[in-house]
Amino acid sequence: MNNYQHILLAADFSEHGLAVAQKAQQLAKQHQAKLSVIHIIDNLPISDTTYGPIIPFDMDLSDLLMTSAKKQLAKLAQSLNIPEQQQYLETGSAYSEIVSTAEEHNVDLIVLGSHGRHGLALLLGSTANSVLHHAKCDVLAVRLQDK
Ligand code: AMP
Repeated sequence: MNNYQHILLAADFSEHGLAVAQKAQQLAKQHQAKLSVIHIIDNLPISDTTYGPIIPFDMDLSDLLMTSAKKQLAKLAQSLNIPEQQQYLETGSAYSEIVSTAEEHNVDLIVLGSHGRHGLALLLGSTANSVLHHAKCDVLAVRLQDK
């Protein structure tokens, strides 16, 4: 088996995230691979829809979310020795941003949790499921169980 060269950790900052981050770090060491991290802000206020405005778009709130997410991402990245240029903060749909960022940066392994903030209701979390279906590279879903 060839060594992985670029591993992308998908971090949702959930309580199980540490186990996923540790697995990604361990794999990066074993494979002497570059390790990057991505977080997607997927809940920006909706400004307009087919049915008209629902929630007024609040620039300050979006800025606040971005700033806070950036801080959390930097903190996690620092604990994993990931430099700033390998920290990706995106907005939009989590799975599609993970897949497109992986393609853009020649990632050959995506590491994510089997479940995240949305809980254990599904056999496999919806983000993990969609990434598995759409990614062109290998995907490792770290099995997370309810404690
Ligand atoms: P979920 O589908 O929400 O159960 O999440 C499964 C896994 O997908 C999580 O453990 C994370 O690794 C990843 N993930 C979910 N949402 C995000 C997000 N907004 N940003 C980055 N990774 C995410």
